[in-house]
Amino acid sequence: MASSTSTVLQNGSPPQSVPDSLSQRIQIIDDTKAFTNDLNAQIERWGLRDAGFSYNVVAVFGSQSTGKSTLLNGLFGTTFDVMDESKRQQTTKGIWMCRGTGMNVMVMDVEGTDGRERGEDQDFERKSALFSLASSEVLIVNLWEHQVGLYQGANMGLLKTVFEVNLGLFGKKDGTNSRTLLLFVIRDHIGTTPLANLEATLTQDVMRIWDSLAKPTELKDSQLRDHFDLAFTALPHKYLVPEKFQEALAALRNRFVSKDDPNFVFKPAYHKRIPADGVAFYMEGIWEQVQTNKDLDLPTQQELLAQFRCDEISGVALSEFNEQAKSQKRPIESGRVVEDLGKMMKSWRTEALARYDRDASRYHQGVYKRKRADLLAALDSTLSPLFLGQLKNLHKSCLVTFKKDMLQGMTGEGYNFADVVEQAREKCEGDFAAGATEAVVEEDSDSWGWEEELELLKEEMRSVANQCRKDETKKMVNLIERTFKKQISEPVELHLNKPAPNMWDSTLKVFKDTLEKAEKQYLAKAKSFDCTEEENDVALADIRQRAWMALRQKVDEQTTDAVVLSKLRAHFEERFRYDEHGIPRVWKPEDDIDSVFKKAKDQTLEIVPLYSKISPADSANSWALPPSAPSLNSSEDDFDFEASLVIFTETKVIDLTNKFRRDADAYYVEAKRSTVSSIAQ
Ligand code: GDP
Ligand code: MG
Repeated sequence: MASSTSTVLQNGSPPQSVPDSLSQRIQIIDDTKAFTNDLNAQIERWGLRDAGFSYNVVAVFGSQSTGKSTLLNGLFGTTFDVMDESKRQQTTKGIWMCRGTGMNVMVMDVEGTDGRERGEDQDFERKSALFSLASSEVLIVNLWEHQVGLYQGANMGLLKTVFEVNLGLFGKKDGTNSRTLLLFVIRDHIGTTPLANLEATLTQDVMRIWDSLAKPTELKDSQLRDHFDLAFTALPHKYLVPEKFQEALAALRNRFVSKDDPNFVFKPAYHKRIPADGVAFYMEGIWEQVQTNKDLDLPTQQELLAQFRCDEISGVALSEFNEQAKSQKRPIESGRVVEDLGKMMKSWRTEALARYDRDASRYHQGVYKRKRADLLAALDSTLSPLFLGQLKNLHKSCLVTFKKDMLQGMTGEGYNFADVVEQAREKCEGDFAAGATEAVVEEDSDSWGWEEELELLKEEMRSVANQCRKDETKKMVNLIERTFKKQISEPVELHLNKPAPNMWDSTLKVFKDTLEKAEKQYLAKAKSFDCTEEENDVALADIRQRAWMALRQKVDEQTTDAVVLSKLRAHFEERFRYDEHGIPRVWKPEDDIDSVFKKAKDQTLEIVPLYSKISPADSANSWALPPSAPSLNSSEDDFDFEASLVIFTETKVIDLTNKFRRDADAYYVEAKRSTVSSIAQ
């Protein structure tokens, strides 16, 4: 064992006694950043498949050509490529893995160029570093002594990024988050600066990096020691003091091999607790996560160029598009429904995209696609207000047509209101849907929906129809009132011209019959209006009240002073100037003018009270009077039915009586004179 170790240490290649399969190395991640399919099989070939938890993983971190591979080969007897001094040739990029000779250790080495020199390689540098950190128990941080304290030179910037993303990606995996040992190996240590001083500087640097990290909120207060342990060692110059170098290397090697070494590095706390047969799968998963993590992505030169050019191309397409779109902005804003707007918008949009695609699709596909989505969003944000404006205008114009159609449908007799509404509604909705569908730029997309506007339109149609119905009902009631007035006019006049105790009974009968007809007329018409019961009740009460007022008006007309006086005169004359056979009287001196006069006058005066109040002789006829129901209009709220029965007051009765007496007296005097003159002849 001891001799095989020294063989390894001296020439950096595996001893002859080690079987080939054990010294095989595998490229687990190739230069296309693909993870190997062969790791599981390789672990089996290394004889580690059934090792359970009895294995360790170590990786290395550091600038190019700092002797990392040399160190690993020296420590673990691995076969990683070492740069050939004479050729200064770059080895193939990727992450390599070997099994440590004579130990259950999987060792990873990273090959690549220094990222800072060539932008595009930073991506791999970051990802491989993060992968190494996340998957190993011990990460060897390899650096020259003269790099200590130099932030850039010692790759501290990269370390910061890697810490940050590591924390974000893997920091909260579980509560008992396994720690990792960062083993700083200082190369070409001359010895003038004691290790303790270098250690202090490096510790300070790492702490400063830790404090400056953007930590996830749930890890805000986490400390460096919750995640990492730090250890330090120094190696003398390999070529200037080769013996000392080998000595130090052997001592360091012991820390990896011997559990009895007080500084044994593979503490159980660092183990990821993945059984050896699951390591391949586990590491592939970590790589997958590292690969898909956006925080690590750095745009390559190609992407930077694509971003610049795609922005330019998109800008040109957008400005041409904006010119086109502007042409319809005014018309829409002024309330017009622009014909074929949808067709136009679709063609502007397609043209702009085609223009962009033609020039931009040659660039980096990811950038091209992302910028295309941005362009599309910009196009749509211009088209959307046009679309919404068109809907609004369409809504307005459809509603106007709806009103027109309603009014047209309601002309003439015998139309069915419900049918008129239904027809106008169907047409309106159809017109709107057709116009709206035309304006849609992209079907099956939430941004081009018009259902909401249609709902608003429907709502307004309902309210227009409602208003029409109310107007129509009102017109109908007016018409019924006019007809009613015409119908009662003659019969009432006739009855009131025949003063008799049952004069009011017959008048009220006319009223009742005519009102019944009017109510029937209303109900027949109201059927097609979809009126509610309550609306019908209100309308009928209105009709009744108006009918009653019409009757009262007719009665008033027939009972003005002049009309009543002339009625009284006629009544009186009939009895005084004509005998019971209707023959005109020629007074003779022997005639008893006084008694005839008195009788005629008294009979006439009896009818004055008859006209003063509407009161049927038969109380059974009071049914004809309208109910004193609450009236329709608030202005008539204080309508007093009882008061409306009175036609004239007591004073008026006396006044009329007196006026009539004077007329009657004149007839008397005239009669007396006629006898005198007949004597004189
Ligand atoms: P890597 O790129 O970090 O893996 O470095 P290599 O292991 O390939 O070595 C790069 C060069 O450094 C080679 O020419 C080695 O011979 C040389 N080298 C290796 N170890 C040491 C060392 O301890 N000190 C010095 N000065 N050179 C070394
Ligand atoms: Mg190397």
